[in-house]
Amino acid sequence: MVRPLLSIVVPCYNEEACLDLLHARVSAAARAAVGEEYEILFVNDGSRDASWPAMQRLAARDPHLVAINLSRNHGHQLALTAGLDLSSGEQILIIDADLQDPPELLSDMRAVMAAEGADVVYAVRRKREGETFFKKATAAMFYRLLKRLTDTEIPLDTGDFRLMSRRALDALLALPEQARFIRGMVAWIGFRQVPFPYDRAERHAGDTHYPIGKMVRLAFDAVTGFSTAPLRFASHASVILAGASLLLLFYIAWGYFEGDPVQGWTSTMLVVTVLSSIQMFVLGMIGEYLGRMYVEVKRRPLYLVADVAGPVQGRATLGF
Ligand code: UDP
Ligand code: MG
Repeated sequence: MVRPLLSIVVPCYNEEACLDLLHARVSAAARAAVGEEYEILFVNDGSRDASWPAMQRLAARDPHLVAINLSRNHGHQLALTAGLDLSSGEQILIIDADLQDPPELLSDMRAVMAAEGADVVYAVRRKREGETFFKKATAAMFYRLLKRLTDTEIPLDTGDFRLMSRRALDALLALPEQARFIRGMVAWIGFRQVPFPYDRAERHAGDTHYPIGKMVRLAFDAVTGFSTAPLRFASHASVILAGASLLLLFYIAWGYFEGDPVQGWTSTMLVVTVLSSIQMFVLGMIGEYLGRMYVEVKRRPLYLVADVAGPVQGRATLGF
């Protein structure tokens, strides 16, 4: 199979209103960068709007476009994985469908990749326009917490917007896990990775598809995928608690021998509630890891493809 120079992979969920402009801007950026030798992969992640018919329409007109329809909503990270699996370019650009990440940066990112001899050029958000204070604050906190917990150097304030070389992508795709936190997995593979600062724009249309529930889930996938620190929390806590209970013991004994024994509901309740919440937290953490192990051992496919529109020859992975 002849590889195109560039693949652009875009996961889309309910992005009907963005698709036309997205297609135009991505195509123009690709053409400016590599001429005709590019492919664009749109992955429809079980959208409830008319994204899929819109993609089919675009694919019928543009031989560069491959549109992939997943069997249902598999989530951003798996939709992205589907697109990456099916991409064939020498270089791969990952970009969001909502045009928050300007496709026009492609040429500059390629220049950085060539100048630095890098395998990954990841875009770092300098500014984020049009996002709520809550989203920005939780994202900033999350990236910093993650940094403290993990041994992998996962860059701060970096999403999935990035340019990768084929060997970096092949390394990434060799990681089989179900609970995927792709920006962390890319950091884990190593090679030379360089930052590319940019200002994140507003969404072109619609609202974020990362409501709080999905954000928390992604955060848990990130932490459990890249750190076992929460599992060690119990042993650390036990040392502190042992110290505290020793102090308490002395205090009680002292009161007893002074003829003024400690008594009361308050102290008992305090100990019971504090200890039981610590225990529940630890149990919950074990549960999070255990649940993910259960999902992993089932070894189900990461996603299922229902339909493909556009040039599919040579894509053996599709199974048809
Ligand atoms: N997305 C997806 N499946 C989902 C949720 C989101 O493919 O279940 C896509 C979405 O279409 C977009 C990208 O993932 O291209 C990022 O989502 P969004 O812009 O809603 O997230 P935010 O930028 O607000 O973090
Ligand atoms: Mg977005």
